[in-house]
Amino acid sequence: MAAIEVQGIRKKFGKLVALDDVSFSVADGEFFCLLGPSGAGKTTTCKSVAGLVRPDEGTVRLAGHDVGDVEPNHRNLAMCFESYALYPQLNVFDNMASPLRSPRFRLSDDEARERVGRTAEMLGVAQLLHRGVDQLSNGQRQRVALGRVLVRPAEAYLLDEPLAHLDAKLRTAMRAELKSISHGDLTTTTIYVTHDYVEALSLADRIGVLREGRILQVGTPEEIWDRPCNAFVAEAFGKPRIGFVDGGLVDGEHGIRFVSSDGAVEVPVPGVEANAGEAVRIGVRPHDLELHPGAEDVPAGRVRVDGVVYVLEHLGRQTEVTVQVGTALLSVVVPREDVPDLARDDRVGLSLDPCAVHVFARGEDERRISS
Ligand code: ATP
Repeated sequence: MAAIEVQGIRKKFGKLVALDDVSFSVADGEFFCLLGPSGAGKTTTCKSVAGLVRPDEGTVRLAGHDVGDVEPNHRNLAMCFESYALYPQLNVFDNMASPLRSPRFRLSDDEARERVGRTAEMLGVAQLLHRGVDQLSNGQRQRVALGRVLVRPAEAYLLDEPLAHLDAKLRTAMRAELKSISHGDLTTTTIYVTHDYVEALSLADRIGVLREGRILQVGTPEEIWDRPCNAFVAEAFGKPRIGFVDGGLVDGEHGIRFVSSDGAVEVPVPGVEANAGEAVRIGVRPHDLELHPGAEDVPAGRVRVDGVVYVLEHLGRQTEVTVQVGTALLSVVVPREDVPDLARDDRVGLSLDPCAVHVFARGEDERRISS
């Protein structure tokens, strides 16, 4: 196993800046997720670590050694990219066993068979070992491709969207399997690419959020969830998404307050690092809101805002209620039985704890300015 350090990587394809000063480090044995939307530069980052893309600037270190001049096949990294290339002429077993035939591993046939069997079992493809790869579904192929990576010992695994082609049920099952490997005895340094925030939150020791070739934030799932560094990161995590309200800061009797541009939301924002008069955007996560269908007082310490029901979405036992407060839309998820008679345009209240409000500066970077 080896630590990975990526320092100041830049990569241009023609005029397009794919990576712009990307830096992060992955500790020995750590499971690191790279998360970002399509085109953010996740694959290019992974390929730079693997040596399949040569950065224009910056360094990649494996176990402390600069590998800029080391060919990909000498980096001892096991990679799985979304475009799962399997050998079409080999069956599943031989595809999975092929990396183990490298003289580097010096494994006996029995050891190789045991490793393939164990990995195939874990990935739910044990019953397919004798099939040709042309007889597999896309999801099965993807698991075989992942198996071919996980079967071999490596300094680190680079897994680029390895679950992308699986259906939701299998994805969840595989996520649990991967989590048990990554957090069990077989802890191998891993960079895991995904655009699925649930996958990142549930699997990662730490997450690096990429956007347009730049790393916006690196942190543990808790750090990123609790203190997103800007509005983009806040919005990338959570479903329903965080709700935003635009407005400005004003001085109040008891400290600085946020007042929305339309006057519909007013809330103290303790610990904000900005002055009265500044334009800001606040974000409130749905689970930090409580719905008040009647005109009742809200619990002490919470602030009430009023609005009308914009849309109701029934999701089994829960209902997502989107409330229009002034011009903003804020969502809250409540037990279905709490809102039996609610309908569109009904007047309702929402309450929130001022300490749960995220405050972001306006402008291009929308950086976090609350503590
Ligand atoms: P996705 O989630 O869609 O796979 P990504 O975050 O992995 O996206 P990359 O594949 O790293 O993004 O691509 C980053 C940017 O670089 C994109 O705009 C992409 O079009 C561009 N790009 C990647 N590889 C090449 C290439 N070989 N030639 C030209 N442009 C490229």
